[in-house]
Amino acid sequence: MTSPIPRALAAWSEAPRVRSLNLCNVRPEGRYVLCWLQQALRARDNPVIDAAICLANDLGLPVLVYHGLREDYPYASDRLHRFILGASRDLARECRQRGLACVQHVDRSDSREKGLVYRLASDSAAVFVEDQPTFVARWQAERFASRTDRAVLAVNAACLVPPAVLGDDIGSTTAFRRRHQPVRGDWLVADELHPATAPYQGALPFASDQLETCTDADIDRFVEHAAIDHSLALSPMFPIGRDGALAKLERLMDDVLPSYAAARNDATRPEGASTLSPYLHFGVVGPREIMATVEAAVAPANAKEKFADELLTWREWFHYQARALPAPERYDRISGWARDTLEAHAPDERPDLESLDAMLHGETRDETWNACQREFLIDGWMHNNLRMYWGKRIIAMTPDPKTAWATACYLNDRLSLDGRDPSTYGNIAASFGGGAPGRDGPAVYGKVPNRSDGSTRHRPGGAEWLETAARRSPPTRLASEPLPSEPYLEGKQDV
Ligand SMILES: Cc1cc2nc3c(=O)[nH]c(=O)nc-3n(C[C@H](O)[C@H](O)[C@H](O)COP(=O)(O)OP(=O)(O)OC[C@H]3O[C@@H](n4cnc5c(N)ncnc54)[C@H](O)[C@@H]3O)c2cc1C
Repeated sequence: MTSPIPRALAAWSEAPRVRSLNLCNVRPEGRYVLCWLQQALRARDNPVIDAAICLANDLGLPVLVYHGLREDYPYASDRLHRFILGASRDLARECRQRGLACVQHVDRSDSREKGLVYRLASDSAAVFVEDQPTFVARWQAERFASRTDRAVLAVNAACLVPPAVLGDDIGSTTAFRRRHQPVRGDWLVADELHPATAPYQGALPFASDQLETCTDADIDRFVEHAAIDHSLALSPMFPIGRDGALAKLERLMDDVLPSYAAARNDATRPEGASTLSPYLHFGVVGPREIMATVEAAVAPANAKEKFADELLTWREWFHYQARALPAPERYDRISGWARDTLEAHAPDERPDLESLDAMLHGETRDETWNACQREFLIDGWMHNNLRMYWGKRIIAMTPDPKTAWATACYLNDRLSLDGRDPSTYGNIAASFGGGAPGRDGPAVYGKVPNRSDGSTRHRPGGAEWLETAARRSPPTRLASEPLPSEPYLEGKQDV
């Protein structure tokens, strides 16, 4: 049981995004309404911030936005840390432009702030967090809500359509699309709320890092001195911060949408992919802003429809699915028939087994798989059309289906900037057995339909493209580490 949401929020136009995470009441005597951002790192078109403003205006209080970055989140690396810090810097800049105070903490050996969210919360009237269905954000928000004495309200910022308006009974992508499509139009435009009080300037329980004034070189210094994995290099394909996201939106409008319908399935054509997924994962841009770009673009209607189907049907379906699962990252989320058939075939002879190190570095005996993996390794992203082949081949490269699941999640989560997302686990589960079972037979896969590399290899120039892609060389060799056991989050960190 949880508290009802406060009246001011219940009357807000985006109220279905909000749910209460505990039984505590709002305390109007607080100094501010705290808005703790974990992953939705943008100041505008951010329903978590807007919900906080809605309640704060009703209470006559300011909003205090907080973002913290620790060193011990799973897979912390130069690649992820720099991307997150760039987003956080721009969050602070744009909060100021919106008339909001934003405080930040970058955890490091000479500046530790144990229990900072609890201390910030103790001066608040209520705390807003994100309603994220996977990975660290979900676990931390739930744990925090169960231990604080402040009201904690979770807000969905990731989806265009709040999952709560869709009901709880959708069981397939087709049914999801049918329910989702007719209501999309209701959520394409949102009124931006304006804070009614001046930005918070009162006492704080810590000295905030001023990321807003950081240059890229300052950010590099934070990264350099952090106790994180320094062997995973940055990705030149994804410039940090809002400028990076805005450049991708411009590219979407000018280069991608006009040919999206035809080029989308062709990994050899860069214009077939928006490469927006890392910015979406870290909330630097939201689906509403992307859809506004799609609507403004001069592009064929079928290209716009196809793109909207990927962004709104497929992405939001995986969010919808994940929120109903107790642990979307776990092997047992794979459909029952797929687990049964894969486990029945676990003793099959496995001539394609590879070591974790060979897989990590894209040095297996499978040239196409290496080409896929090197996109993860070097770019921190992989083309959509390669990912299904990549996921399915891991089943044959590992000794049993549980190890296959753990390996796929590990490679995706450690290397890809868009990893650790509802789309990660939903798509890996789909590659291990989405849809209907096939005829039982093939060794190792049983009834799980397999996928060849033909859609890339047999295109004109495809074989040459794969050969070159498989030979790309990463700037560094990765530090090896044991395969994480699942669920790999529990007990890892508090805030
Ligand atoms: C095995 C496997 C693992 C995957 N892991 C991830 C992951 O970790 N993170 C992730 O965001 N996506 C993942 N996907 C989905 C998809 O491949 C990526 O979202 C897409 O390639 C991102 O590139 P893009 O932004 O250029 O996509 P575009 O083609 O430009 O599509 C626009 C947006 O639509 C959404 N989208 C497109 N395809 C899918 C899809 N199949 N499922 C869900 N959303 C989709 C993404 O948000 C994407 O940014 C995975 C797919 C497979 C088969």
